[in-house]
Amino acid sequence: MSTQSPQRPESPGLRMGRPFGIPVYVSPTWLIVAAFITYTFQPMVAMELPDRDTLVTYLVAFVFAVFLYVSVLLHELAHCVVARYFGLPVKRITLYLLGGVSEIEREPETPAREFSVAFAGPLLSLGLAAVGFFASDLFPVGTIPHVLVWQLWISNLIVGVFNMLPGLPLDGGRMLRAGVWKLTRDSGKGTLAAAWFGRGLAVVLVLYALAAPAMTGQGTSWSLLLWSVLLASFIWIGASQSLRVARVRARMPQLQARALARRAIPVTPEVPLAEALRRREQAQAGAMVVVDHEGDPIAIVNEAAVTATPEQRRPWVTVGSLARTLEPSLVLPADLSGEALIDAMRGAPSGEYLLVERDGGGVYGVLVTADVNRVFSGV
Ligand SMILES: [Zn+2]
Repeated sequence: MSTQSPQRPESPGLRMGRPFGIPVYVSPTWLIVAAFITYTFQPMVAMELPDRDTLVTYLVAFVFAVFLYVSVLLHELAHCVVARYFGLPVKRITLYLLGGVSEIEREPETPAREFSVAFAGPLLSLGLAAVGFFASDLFPVGTIPHVLVWQLWISNLIVGVFNMLPGLPLDGGRMLRAGVWKLTRDSGKGTLAAAWFGRGLAVVLVLYALAAPAMTGQGTSWSLLLWSVLLASFIWIGASQSLRVARVRARMPQLQARALARRAIPVTPEVPLAEALRRREQAQAGAMVVVDHEGDPIAIVNEAAVTATPEQRRPWVTVGSLARTLEPSLVLPADLSGEALIDAMRGAPSGEYLLVERDGGGVYGVLVTADVNRVFSGV
């Protein structure tokens, strides 16, 4: 699995090392899954190694859990190494409850690169499975190495095949996205198709877990159901997030600072709010910029603070006290648009920004964050 969600918590767990310069973390939730794998896998080990102590079979089961996650780590490293080869920044890999996540901070520029980054992981898992399959013959049946290698090849086969299922956020979903992107030359359409396939997969997974016991004539398998629901929710949430990102991207071209700007009137800081609002209404403007006595802008009046000031207090409050001092990061070129605009706003979160002409041509107006958000509301 691999996702591109920059909004994960900053401390993802225990740092284990930096293979290929990529920081690897293990989340505490991994301990839960290690315990679970050890517990469910132990009876199988006990069957394969009948004359071993129970304690030894638990240890073997635990070693299997560790090796399984080492294979998952190698799978993620394959994604990251290919991503880095294409010049994409890789932040870190985190191993957690459901496997591994690679945080790659930019998307590949072409469908072919997207496909390569996505395919690298499953390809490595399938490669490990093949190696394990042949290596298991090297050890006599009934020995600990044979049990471990045998189980590892099967697990890597499952990891490889599962991740190739064609729906986001799985690797197969990204491969499908790359395919649709290539055919339609529209990465947005690729995301939409692969995300809907992802949602479909989630539904199929739960239906399968519900129907499988009936088909095999056995009772409901609660652990199968539990894991299916867990995986299905992971896939559903990931697919929905991709859909949201695709919808936001689709609206990006409408996002032009100049088109969204409010006309602003200049006021000096000592002007009472009530008077400033009267002037604003008269000028039919939407914002107020605080200027010094030379007329140079020094602050922007915070609209939220204005709204929060009760009517009867407004004659006694100066606009200067409700304004945010203009730092350089709050002054944006009026011709900013799309993702460049979003990046600039993210870099300096604020309710208002001053828009200016690039060549020192003066103030164009005020960009209100709420107006920008309105473009995306309902997404
Ligand atoms: Zn993967």
